[in-house]
Amino acid sequence: MQPKSHLFKEESTKAIGDANLQSALKNLQTGFVAARARAADGLDEFEALRDEAVTLKDHILANLDFYLERFEEKVTEAGGTVHFCATAEEARQTILELCRRYGAKSVTKGKSMVAEEVALNPFLEANGIEPVETDLGEYIIQLAKEAPSHIIGPAVHKTKEQVSDLFHEHHAKYGRTERLTEAEDLVTEAREVLRQKYFDADVGITGANFLIAETGSTIIVTNEGNGDLTQMLPKAHVVISAIDKVVPTLEDVSTILRVLARSATGQEMSAYTTLSTGPKREGDLDGPEGFHVVLLDNGRSDLLGTDKQDLLRCIRCGACMNHCPVYTAVGGHAYGWVYPGPIGAALDPHIVGLEEARHLPNASTFCGRCEQVCPMRIPLPKIMRHWREEAFERGLPPARERLALKGWAWMARHPWAYRLAARIGIGVMGRLGRRRGGRFRDLPLARAWTKSRDMPAPEGRTFIDRWKAGERG
Ligand code: SF4
Repeated sequence: MQPKSHLFKEESTKAIGDANLQSALKNLQTGFVAARARAADGLDEFEALRDEAVTLKDHILANLDFYLERFEEKVTEAGGTVHFCATAEEARQTILELCRRYGAKSVTKGKSMVAEEVALNPFLEANGIEPVETDLGEYIIQLAKEAPSHIIGPAVHKTKEQVSDLFHEHHAKYGRTERLTEAEDLVTEAREVLRQKYFDADVGITGANFLIAETGSTIIVTNEGNGDLTQMLPKAHVVISAIDKVVPTLEDVSTILRVLARSATGQEMSAYTTLSTGPKREGDLDGPEGFHVVLLDNGRSDLLGTDKQDLLRCIRCGACMNHCPVYTAVGGHAYGWVYPGPIGAALDPHIVGLEEARHLPNASTFCGRCEQVCPMRIPLPKIMRHWREEAFERGLPPARERLALKGWAWMARHPWAYRLAARIGIGVMGRLGRRRGGRFRDLPLARAWTKSRDMPAPEGRTFIDRWKAGERG
């Protein structure tokens, strides 16, 4: 996916005016947020499990090279191959070469954010290979020619009516001409249309939620079971994953799985947890002949040992975005790249560059909800603040913005000046406001704010003056 994060301001303005999107985003509050709260409250040891998961992941990151080497050894022992790829381009070329090796004209794909990161679908299409998404959400956005807007609910921005329109338009070529409106019927039709695609594919590509160093297995968790068909039926199974997904043992994975599903969808466990270990063995009735794991770095190892290393603890549950007031107001597309919401605001500047993504760390109220619900306790606001400081130091914000920030910083370091300016400002605004009926409809330095609401005029003295005078009731 080509990054368009520099358009964040324009895209978020459009998103706020999009009635369909706003109606779809409301479901996040009643769906994921409420479900997570119930699941967390229902498990006494939830907080202890989070701590355990964080300690485990920090240990892995401190020994990442060891666990990756062990994983590779075990995959090889099981008859598979690991391909280490430093860049997105290397990962694309490796997968293309594998598809050609197995004579693939079409490939089925399970959901994978890393495949989005390397823009795999357009690359395969440009090379004459048809990729077919099998996760329902991914399938919907593939028909709509859009990118995912959420890391666990790629089509969360679509209403049922929009999905109905899409199926009506695209399924006519399969003889499905009836317009369906019920969710259950839409799911059934997608399942029937996809069935033949599974049989036609020569290669199945999936992501991986975890890579197990002890056994060389890869794990995917899904609620649809589509990943199983994607990896079992074709001649070869290609797994694409980031290097930070490795976990030492199966026992360790069970700890993380218990916090993953609860944080993501509020389930105790996802419906399917599928392990793949190597290709089909002699005597096996099913399974792929080839098993390949494409491991992508794409700048992640540069985070090790830095003040942003904690980002590598992310298990892609999506809880941070479900609870973010900015994400829930503008949706994922406004962020302009694969990872939206607070994790995107903290990770994207590293992967696509701060010049491209410098608006994203500003897209936060710093309310702290993201960190509060993140199962891996990633200090997302702190990392966004680092990016803001770095953008300022590198002179990326426009001169006017930098001057305003410098002025603000000076005032914050000189409280007497801040108090004096506040007293003068409040006095002048109070007097002007009284002549305007107590409200400002347009304020020169706050035009973006007053464009959609009035600013109440201050009525008395500053907060500090009133506090000092003992008005604390
Ligand atoms: S940052 Fe935390 S809450 Fe957000 S997706 Fe990653 S693990 Fe989940």
